[in-house]
Amino acid sequence: MTTFDVINPATEEVVRSVPLATLEETDAAIARAAAALPAWRAVAPGDRARLLRRFAEAVDGAVEELAALEVLNAGHTIGNARWEAGNVRDVLHYYSAAPERLFGKQIPVPGGLNVTFHEPLGVVGVIVPWNFPMPIAVWGFAPALAAGNTVVLKPAELTPLTALRLASLALEAGLPPDVFQVVPGAGPVVGQRFVTHPDVRKVVFTGSTRVGKQIMAGCADQVKRVTLELGGKSANVVFADADLERAAATAPYGVFDNAGQDCCARSRILVQASVYDRFMELLEPAVKGVVVGAPGDEASEMGPLISAAHREKVASYVPSDAPVAFRGSAPSGAGFWFPPTVLAPVAPGDRAAVEEIFGPVVAVLPFTDEEDAVRLANDSAYGLSGSIWTRDVGRALRVSRAVEAGNLSVNSHSSVRYWTPFGGFKQSGLGRELGPDALDSFTETKNVFIAH
Ligand code: NAD
Repeated sequence: MTTFDVINPATEEVVRSVPLATLEETDAAIARAAAALPAWRAVAPGDRARLLRRFAEAVDGAVEELAALEVLNAGHTIGNARWEAGNVRDVLHYYSAAPERLFGKQIPVPGGLNVTFHEPLGVVGVIVPWNFPMPIAVWGFAPALAAGNTVVLKPAELTPLTALRLASLALEAGLPPDVFQVVPGAGPVVGQRFVTHPDVRKVVFTGSTRVGKQIMAGCADQVKRVTLELGGKSANVVFADADLERAAATAPYGVFDNAGQDCCARSRILVQASVYDRFMELLEPAVKGVVVGAPGDEASEMGPLISAAHREKVASYVPSDAPVAFRGSAPSGAGFWFPPTVLAPVAPGDRAAVEEIFGPVVAVLPFTDEEDAVRLANDSAYGLSGSIWTRDVGRALRVSRAVEAGNLSVNSHSSVRYWTPFGGFKQSGLGRELGPDALDSFTETKNVFIAH
């Protein structure tokens, strides 16, 4: 049996060895999920809702345990990890209200009655990356289960521990066996099998744009349904009329949260040239003030990167001749640490301004006016999120409408609320998760006409 050593990124110690599923084991899990489907979709809506609420309550009882696991496995700060476990509970509660509300329509027709139904798709395969193991998993499995599908979920090789615990909590809460299975394994084995297996009717993939394109191409063969949440290179646009103190104080948290390993990281700060110097003066103490340290410490605001290989990739964006304006601090010694780093000024075509770094490195670019700001913000293959700082309501609205991205915030950096839709424009993805409409992505609309 092949196993994978899960490493604590803050200490480089092995936490646990997790077996990696083979192709045969993956096929067996998919077969069990397919066999569990008829009974699960037939559970009365109120009962399915109750089971999901119990699952949510079991997660609520395990928030501290799940958070501690994520600190150990992913190096997330304890504050973030608690939020993430709480997000699993909240998303389950939110979609537990769905089974009794999967309304179809009655449409007037001559000669009879026309109604629509939202039918479950079947077995749904969810493929999760390592950066937010818990939230990204639940955004897929909660609406899928609520709509009457069964789920096989593959966590990232690096971060399987919380997903495995969530699977056991589901059983403890009374979900029938095989309705929600977690299958740890390699992407090209387990994940790829979700794409090729004819009994998996939908793939929900979150991860890199490179792999996402392969998933989409693979799913085309069976016209398999697919939701993609991919990379980002989001812009934080600061206009001269903004509350500069607040914009500068919050900018580090808009990009360095989770050590920058966030698809929504505002990794390009666009600053109006007339206030560029003042903004940089305010940004420096804010960046130096980010508390980087042991993720289990309550005071830590940023932990380590996920792996040695990832730290190497992030470091490649800060070569010795990089335009480093200033940096924060990071612990030395064991652990995959990398200090918050500000590159400025960066030209629009530079690698640091174009590619997703997925680490605590931000590029600052000046702009002249509103038109130039929008042009620069949209000068990217990605379109996931972004922020706009201005005191002019008209400008806030104009720029919000003009920026090609799925999740924008004005005078703040928040992208994700479980009851509002989340997803990307352009190469940041396909489809939307969360909010009231996600259920449509886990059902087929069926139209039935009944003659009088
Ligand atoms: P990745 O694409 O390497 O891996 C993501 C998942 O896909 C993992 O579980 C991996 O095992 C699996 N996988 C790899 N190769 C596969 C294959 N050939 N077939 C099927 N599955 C395969 O990405 P990563 O490095 O784990 O995650 C970082 C990326 O995720 C970043 O680009 C980030 O922007 C993106 N991301 C996007 C969102 C979003 O919602 N848009 C959220 C978080 C992360």
